[in-house]
Amino acid sequence: MSGELKPAPKILDRFANEPLTDFSKAENRKAMQEALRDVRESFGNDYPLIINGKSVETRARIASRNPAQHKEILGMVSCASPDHAEKAVAAARRAWDEWRKVPAAHRAEYLELIAAGLRNRRFELSAWIVLECGKPWAEADGDVAEAIDFCGYYARCMRELDCPQSCDYPGEENSTWYRSRGVAVVIAPWNFPLAILAGMTVAAIVTGNTVVMKPAEQSSIVAAKFMDVIQEAGLPNGVVNYLPGIGEEVGPALVGSPDVDLIAFTGSRKVGLEINKLAADTDPRQLGVKKVIAEMGGKNAIIVDEDADLDEAVQGVIRSAFGYSGQKCSACSRAIVLAPVFDSFTQRLKAACESLQIGPAEAPGTDLGPVIDEDAVSRINDYIAIGNEECETLVARDVGDLAQQGHFVGPHVFINVDPESRLAQHEIFGPVLAVLKARNLEQALTFANSTDYALTGGMYSRSPVALEKARHDFLVGNLYLNREITGAIVQRHPFGGFNFSGIGSKAGGPDYLLQYLLPVSVSENTLRRGFAPSADAEA
Ligand code: NAD
Repeated sequence: MSGELKPAPKILDRFANEPLTDFSKAENRKAMQEALRDVRESFGNDYPLIINGKSVETRARIASRNPAQHKEILGMVSCASPDHAEKAVAAARRAWDEWRKVPAAHRAEYLELIAAGLRNRRFELSAWIVLECGKPWAEADGDVAEAIDFCGYYARCMRELDCPQSCDYPGEENSTWYRSRGVAVVIAPWNFPLAILAGMTVAAIVTGNTVVMKPAEQSSIVAAKFMDVIQEAGLPNGVVNYLPGIGEEVGPALVGSPDVDLIAFTGSRKVGLEINKLAADTDPRQLGVKKVIAEMGGKNAIIVDEDADLDEAVQGVIRSAFGYSGQKCSACSRAIVLAPVFDSFTQRLKAACESLQIGPAEAPGTDLGPVIDEDAVSRINDYIAIGNEECETLVARDVGDLAQQGHFVGPHVFINVDPESRLAQHEIFGPVLAVLKARNLEQALTFANSTDYALTGGMYSRSPVALEKARHDFLVGNLYLNREITGAIVQRHPFGGFNFSGIGSKAGGPDYLLQYLLPVSVSENTLRRGFAPSADAEA
C-alpha cells in the first residue's frame, strides 16, 4: 500500500450504542437477582407457535432446559411441522401485500418501539438468556444491548435509504430507489439468542419484508419473549411469525418453499451450505431466484508478536477464547505465538486459566458457565481427547461435581499444536484453545490464514510495521489489533466474514440492509406534450 494515495477516511455520523449494565452497582445486581427469581417463578409455561398473530399449539413439543441444571425444565415449546411452515409462509405472504406499502419512516418507528420494549424488559430478557442458554450475566446483558442497537441502527439506516437518488437530465427524470423482496425466512443460532435473531428479523421488517422467524431449538423461549415484544409494539398480524421447531424438519420446508424470497441464516457452515444449495434449486412455481444471506463459523486466531505486552495479550486471549465458554463465532481458538515469547506467554496463560471461575451462569462471579447441551459436551470432549493424544496439554481444568448437574466442560489449552491438525483446523465451539508456535511474523500469518474460515482475527504487537502488515495480510472479516477479538459493537465494528465464514455483508454495518432490498431505477421522459384528462375528471 505504501506510496498509494489513500482517500481521507469518512467520519461516520455516530449512532449512540445502548450502554451496558454496570453490575458493580448494587441496584443493578439486585434488579438482576429479582429478574432471575421472577423468571424461575414462570418456569413450566407453554410457548405456542404464532402464525398470523394467532397461537398454535402442537402435539410435538420441545422441552427447554437449563444447561447448568439439566433436570430443570424452563418451559415447553411447540414444535412446527412442514405443514405449519407452509401456513406461516402463506401468512407472511398475505401480510406482505400491506406491509410493503407502509412508509419506510413508519416501519422504522416500529423498530424504535421494539427497541423500547426490549429496554423495558432488559433484566427479564437477560435472565431468560442466563437460564436458557447458560450465558453469564454480563454476556447476557450485552446480548440484549446488541438487540436494542440493531433496532435503532437499522431504523436509522432505513431512513437514509428511503431517499431516492436522482440523476436528472433535461427532459428526463431518473431515480433509483429500493423495493422490499417479499417473504424472508430468518433462521438463527442459540449463541446470541436475542441479538442475532432480532438483528436479522428487524432488518427484514424495516426493509418492508415479512418474516417467518425460526429460532434455534435451544433458545426458543428467549425467541418467544422477543415475539412478545414484537406483538406489544403493535406490528400487524403476519408481519412476523414465530415458528420454533427442529431445524432438520422444518428448515428445508421453509427454505424450499416457492413462496420464500430471502433466507437470512446464521449458524454452522454445514447447515449454511445446505441452505445455500437448497435455495439455489429453483421450483417452477417460484417467481425468482432466492437471496441467501448466511453467516457461518470461524476458526479465529490471535497472533502474539515477540514485542507484545504479554499481560494484555494473555488477558485478551483468555477473554476471547473462554468468554461464553468459547461458544462465539468470533472466539479465539488458536493463539499463534512467536518463538521468543512462547514460553513466557504460555506460563502466564496457564496461571490465568487456573484462576477462571467455573460455575452456573446465574452465579454473578462466574467466568465460565456451561456449554449449551449434551451434544456439545460430547463433541468438545472428542476434541479434548484428540488434543490429549496429539499435542502437549498445558491446561485441563476439571469441572468436578458440576458435570453431574449440567453441561460443563473445563477450559483446555494445548500447546505445540500442528497447524494442519484437526485441533487447529476445525471449529470446536467450546472452551478449547490450541497454541501454535511460529518462527516469525510471516509464518504466524501463514498459519493464521491457513483455515477454510475468515471471520475474526487479532494481533498483539508494539511494532507499527507488524500491525500494518497484519492490516493487509491477515485475511479476516474483522481484525482486532491489541485488543480482544470478540464483542463487536453495532456500527463501530460491522461484523461478518468471508470464505466459509459467510456469504453476506456485515451485520450492524452500512451495507447490511441492502441485502434485504431490490434496487429499482425509474426513468421518465418529461417531454410529453399536453395532458390526458384524469379518469376522475372523466367520471
Ligand atoms: P446450527 O447450524 O446447528 O443451527 C442454526 C439454525 O439452523 C438453528 O435454528 C437450527 O435449527 C437450524 N437448522 C438446522 N438444520 C437445518 C436445516 N437442515 N435447514 C434449515 N435450518 C436448519 O448452528 P448453531 O449450533 O445454532 O450455532 C452455532 C454455529 O453458528 C457456529 O458454527 C457459529 O460459528 C455460528 N455462528 C456464526 C455467527 C456469524 O455471525 N458468523 C454468529 C453466531 C453463530
